[in-house]
Amino acid sequence: MRDVIILGSGPAGLTAAVYAARANLKPLLISGPLPGGQLTTTTEVENFPGFSHGIMGPDLMAEMRKQAERFGTEFIEKRATKVDLSSSPFKLWLDEEMLECRSLIIATGATAKTLGLAREWDLMGFGLSTCATCDGAFFRDQEIVVIGGGDSAAEEAMFLTKFGKRVRLIHRRDKLRASKIMSDRVLAHPKVEMVWNSTIVELLGDRKSGITGAILENTQTNERSEIQCNAIFYAIGHTPNTELFKEYLPLDENGYIIPAANSSATKVPGVFACGDVQDHVFRQAITAAGSGCMAAIEAERWLAHHE
Ligand code: NDP
Repeated sequence: MRDVIILGSGPAGLTAAVYAARANLKPLLISGPLPGGQLTTTTEVENFPGFSHGIMGPDLMAEMRKQAERFGTEFIEKRATKVDLSSSPFKLWLDEEMLECRSLIIATGATAKTLGLAREWDLMGFGLSTCATCDGAFFRDQEIVVIGGGDSAAEEAMFLTKFGKRVRLIHRRDKLRASKIMSDRVLAHPKVEMVWNSTIVELLGDRKSGITGAILENTQTNERSEIQCNAIFYAIGHTPNTELFKEYLPLDENGYIIPAANSSATKVPGVFACGDVQDHVFRQAITAAGSGCMAAIEAERWLAHHE
């Protein structure tokens, strides 16, 4: 029986682990399918405070893990396959193995949707990105492409106009899904050029030169053409990793966990959520880390109260 089990090993889960371990709760952290989380798929991180010269995403996560280990966090490099949150102690399974805990911190993150193109994962972090806030500044005065038509795409395109010479927003239909205010704003921006009824079918470039362009396909005529660019940002939505919890926790219409206001507490007492699994607004490493800290402190207080 554990006091605290943490699910997920991104900035939220590892920060929760540092705090829980320092509070002597001997947390067990289940790493999940992508140890280190989304930051392991990026290259340089320039906006995490404390690293004035930037740090590579995988190195940042390795440092966070070492910090959590230093205070006694135990790690299991597996993914949770089932949970039972119907009563305390909570149960979770790693395939056949069953674990029990008094409090659970869910930090399973969200997965950015991708187009599923060949070499996508090879080029991720080399001109291909799913986060404009993270990587936009690397493409000053360059040709930037954004894929998507929702609020994220509109917001990312607007943000990227600060850096790019031109931002081409490629959408598979002839009307944006984004809210009217965001659509009006992005359509009126002098640096944004719309490419309607189109999608990308091939990425051009390699790890050495980065993204150099893409092959576009018109979704109505199937006609193909080549465009040149230095960066491609996917903004076609995220999928929160909440499949395991949907039976027990209320989720919003996009599948995100809804914690209590100004808290990481979920509807199930003793179960806390932090990081991107409950945040579709900020999605930053630093906000995830902050919410991981909140979850660990709240779990500690909850355990003390229910001892
Ligand atoms: P959405 O699901 O709203 O939009 C995804 C967009 O990507 C759609 O335009 C969709 O096209 C397109 N798309 C999806 N799959 C593909 C594909 N395989 N190929 C090409 N295009 C594809 O996701 P968002 O992340 O934009 O928004 C999620 C939620 O978060 C929404 O509720 C949104 O309002 C909210 N949000 C709010 C913000 C704000 O208020 N500032 C900022 C960001 C998000 P199609 O339209 O054809 O389906």
